[in-house]
Amino acid sequence: MAFLNTVLEPPAYGWKDEFGDLVKPTQGQIVKEFFSRLNVFKCKKNWLSFLSWMLIVFLTPFLGLFIFKYFSITGLIVAFVYSMIIMGTHGTIWHHRYCTHGAYKFSNKFWRFFTQNLTLKIIPEEIYAVSHHVHHALSDQPGDPYNAQGGFLYCFLADVNHQPINRNMNEKDYAKCVNLMQHTGVTTNTYTQYKKWGTLVSPLRTIIGIILNWGFWFTAFYLIGGPALACAVFGAAGFWAVGVRTFNYEGHGKGEDKRRDGVDYNRNDMSINQIWPGFVAGEWHNNHHLYPKSARSGFKPYQVDLAFYYIKLLSLIGAVSSYRDSKKEFYADHCKVIVDKVIVDNEKDFVTSEESVLVTE
Ligand SMILES: [Zn+2]
Ligand SMILES: [Zn+2]
Repeated sequence: MAFLNTVLEPPAYGWKDEFGDLVKPTQGQIVKEFFSRLNVFKCKKNWLSFLSWMLIVFLTPFLGLFIFKYFSITGLIVAFVYSMIIMGTHGTIWHHRYCTHGAYKFSNKFWRFFTQNLTLKIIPEEIYAVSHHVHHALSDQPGDPYNAQGGFLYCFLADVNHQPINRNMNEKDYAKCVNLMQHTGVTTNTYTQYKKWGTLVSPLRTIIGIILNWGFWFTAFYLIGGPALACAVFGAAGFWAVGVRTFNYEGHGKGEDKRRDGVDYNRNDMSINQIWPGFVAGEWHNNHHLYPKSARSGFKPYQVDLAFYYIKLLSLIGAVSSYRDSKKEFYADHCKVIVDKVIVDNEKDFVTSEESVLVTE
């Protein structure tokens, strides 16, 4: 726990006050910190956050071209599906369930590379994964990088203000940090390189990786549907990259207790299951906090989980060698009352399996 308490670079306003309570910075403090930590001229260790937001700046003209030059209803449908479903689901499959939680294993490096590059590369793995371990360890407490009680902006700008790794780790802690990312295949810096760049990955490798990834996808979409399709997809990806930053605030009830009986079984934090992120990206967030290492988060029949369907499909074709599925534990641990109640109510023998009971719920 001590390691996860210090693995992230603390913001200038700090995580907690002298009484151990969450520091709630003003909007001005948050914005000031944001620009200070994007300033690569002040400190070159800011490069990864700067790059991450520059990618959104680069994608904006594509969105403009799509809206003002190439707009069509078909393009709009493509943009919607790409930004809302494909990018979102990929984030769950890759950054969330694989890079952070190791919920499944690839059979070989090809399928790992294939999955990693299935969409436009925008969110750096280390920014997402390391801080997400902290989010689980300190959910809704001071130190949680996107603590919803800190407010919308606190979460929205978290990737710059709260999620980058600590720049003053000793060699032992840096090695632990590298270890968190080892299975992802991301090439990490030596401790000396880390002291220079402040990050797990090197700028050159990261930039080359993005150029190759974007180049491949731009060519592919251009060949399929000309500049109109390429602009629709690239613009949509930029739109998603901004929109996804609202999820962490909403996924924990916007700083309020929005948990519902019979829906949100985990009561250890403020996470909630929401229909939209669930349907488009498999992010049944309250379920996920119950079983973080499960490759499936949609447990109930209506809880569609596209990310899990992808993992399951890869497993069927032999690309994924193993995965965890906590659906049975979920029913056994949290729906037993319902099972017992239905059995008593019905007093019928045919209700024997948890599955059949839950279908009749
Ligand atoms: Zn959460
Ligand atoms: Zn998680």
